[in-house]
Amino acid sequence: MENYFKKYPTSDGFFGKYGGAYLPPQLIEQFQKITEAYMTISKSHHFISELRNIRKHYQGRPTPVYFASRLSELVGGSRIYLKREDLNHMGAHKLNHTMGEGLLAKYLGKKKLIAETGAGQHGVAVATAAAHFGLEAEIHMGEVDIKKEYPNVIRMKLLGAKVVPVTHGAKTLKEAVDSAFDAYLKNPEEMLFAIGSVVGPHPYPMLVRDFQRVVGIEAREQFFEMTGELPDNLVACVGGGSNAMGLFSAFLEDDSKIFGVEPAGKSFKSGEHAATLTYGKEGIIHGFNTYLLQNDKGEPAEVYSIASGLDYPGVGPEHAFLKDKGRINYVTASDKETLDAFYTLSRVEGIIPALESAHAVAYAMKLARETQYESILVNLSGRGDKDIDFIVDNYGFGDKQ
Ligand SMILES: *Cc1c(COP(=O)(O)O)cnc(C)c1O
Repeated sequence: MENYFKKYPTSDGFFGKYGGAYLPPQLIEQFQKITEAYMTISKSHHFISELRNIRKHYQGRPTPVYFASRLSELVGGSRIYLKREDLNHMGAHKLNHTMGEGLLAKYLGKKKLIAETGAGQHGVAVATAAAHFGLEAEIHMGEVDIKKEYPNVIRMKLLGAKVVPVTHGAKTLKEAVDSAFDAYLKNPEEMLFAIGSVVGPHPYPMLVRDFQRVVGIEAREQFFEMTGELPDNLVACVGGGSNAMGLFSAFLEDDSKIFGVEPAGKSFKSGEHAATLTYGKEGIIHGFNTYLLQNDKGEPAEVYSIASGLDYPGVGPEHAFLKDKGRINYVTASDKETLDAFYTLSRVEGIIPALESAHAVAYAMKLARETQYESILVNLSGRGDKDIDFIVDNYGFGDKQ
């Protein structure tokens, strides 16, 4: 893992055989331009100090690392610590990269941020960045998702974004991606495509990872200051993989064991899960090569997770690479384990986690039970306010579990 960041990705965007940029010919030049601009602008003193300022005074960074003593005592065995990304402005780690994307758009003289969104969380994070920088935001969203995730549609509109309903096909995330790409193709000079995780064609897996690295850099320093050591174990949930890469990237050259947690959902047999690295195989989705959950025809499969931020059939190419290298272990948490972690963390620590993050907490609880005297640092990627109505309507308050 030596000189890791100098070697990966390669200049054409590969992490081993994963990643790359499989694009329609009209977009190749645009993406090269974004890469070049990113490589120069984002390394400039000006850009870095402006982003730092935003993180401190607008986003509320650094977020703390917290020793969850009552949770640790309850499960027994090892100690659980939380990196509190739920305390970011807007309640999740997503602003770490959307503020970076917004600032890049500003430096490039773009007028608009364009994005797709599934559950709406990414759309809200992009709309927030656009409002902050005085840019327009155009968010493509499937009609089915608009109905399902209406509170996020309201947030986007309040933040001044234009929400474009997508009415073809299954009217969900996949169609929203196609629709946003089509709109972008018509006028790429004017807009920056703001991708929501460490996925998509080069340079996005690198760019989003780099903007998320702040999580790991802070956490490594904070943890060392608290304990005089580095964590024995790191745990984060993996949808596309941005919060996980953010935390893990700072520890790749250390001895810490690393666990990425995928949603095992209801069951493997019924196909109702989204555990891409656990059950998928190599394939191309949305312009990059990675592990992919596929149907009989080799197309991206329908996937499911109780946490809408984790239901993606692909995964960031860097995760695929680090899995094959054996540096990161990919494990799963089921809906049931996740709900248990959600209720437990709320009750014993006074922290209501996002359902995505509760997957990581669930695995950390299991790991804590199975080990002794070790430390486990969990990335608590977001807060659970967005999930409480859904949970209470469907599962109650957890006392009848
Ligand atoms: C979107 C989201 C995720 C999943 O995205 P990654 O790119 O895998 O991090 C996880 N947690 C929260 C709170 C989210 O909003």
